[in-house]
Amino acid sequence: MIIAVLVNVDKMKRKQKTFYEDAKKTISQLQLSQEIELGKTFEDISKIYGIKSKFISKMCAEKNILANSHHKKIFLNNMEFNRNMNIYKYIEKASRNCPDLGGDLNNQLHMAIGASTEANELLDAYKKWFAYGKPLDKINVSEEIFDCFWYLLNLCRMLEIDPEKGMDTNIAKLQARYPEKFTEYYANNRDLEKERKILEE
Ligand SMILES: [Mg+2]
Repeated sequence: MIIAVLVNVDKMKRKQKTFYEDAKKTISQLQLSQEIELGKTFEDISKIYGIKSKFISKMCAEKNILANSHHKKIFLNNMEFNRNMNIYKYIEKASRNCPDLGGDLNNQLHMAIGASTEANELLDAYKKWFAYGKPLDKINVSEEIFDCFWYLLNLCRMLEIDPEKGMDTNIAKLQARYPEKFTEYYANNRDLEKERKILEE
C-alpha cells in the first residue's frame, strides 16, 4: 500500500516536471521578462499563454525575473531603501559634481559620451563572466549601471527633460508597439508615426 502511494507520488512529480518543461517551451525567458516589464501579473500571463501561474512564478524565480507579485514584494521588502533618495533628489546631488565645460554642446555631448563609455564598462563587467569564466562582479555591475544613470540624468537636467514623464512615455510607446506582447512581427512592423505622436505628447 505504502509502496503504491510512493509510486503514485513519484509519477505525479514526474508529470509536474514534464508540464513545467512544456511551459518553459511555451514562453521564452525574453517574452516573460517583457510581459513582466509591461506590468503583467502572473495571472495575466497565465491566461495569455495558457500556463499555470505557479509555473510562471517558478520560472521568474529561477531566472531571477521580478514580477508584480509576491516575488517583487519579497525583493522590495528585502531591499534597504534609502527613503531620503528619489530621482529628483538624485539629479540635484548629481549636478553638484558635474563640471561645466562651457556651452550647451560641450556639456551635453560630455554627458552623451559619458553614458556610452559607462555602458561599455558595464559590458566589460559581463565580458569577464562571458569570455573569461570569472564570477559576475555584481558590485561592479551596479557601479556601472549607476555611472550610466549619472550621465543620463545630468543630461535630462540640462535638457529639462522630466525623468518620470520620460519613463511614462517610454512605457506608453512600448505598449503602442506591442499591444498584447512582444512578437517579432510587431518588432519589425512599427507604426513610427503613432510612436512619434506618443513621444510628442
Ligand atoms: Mg564606471
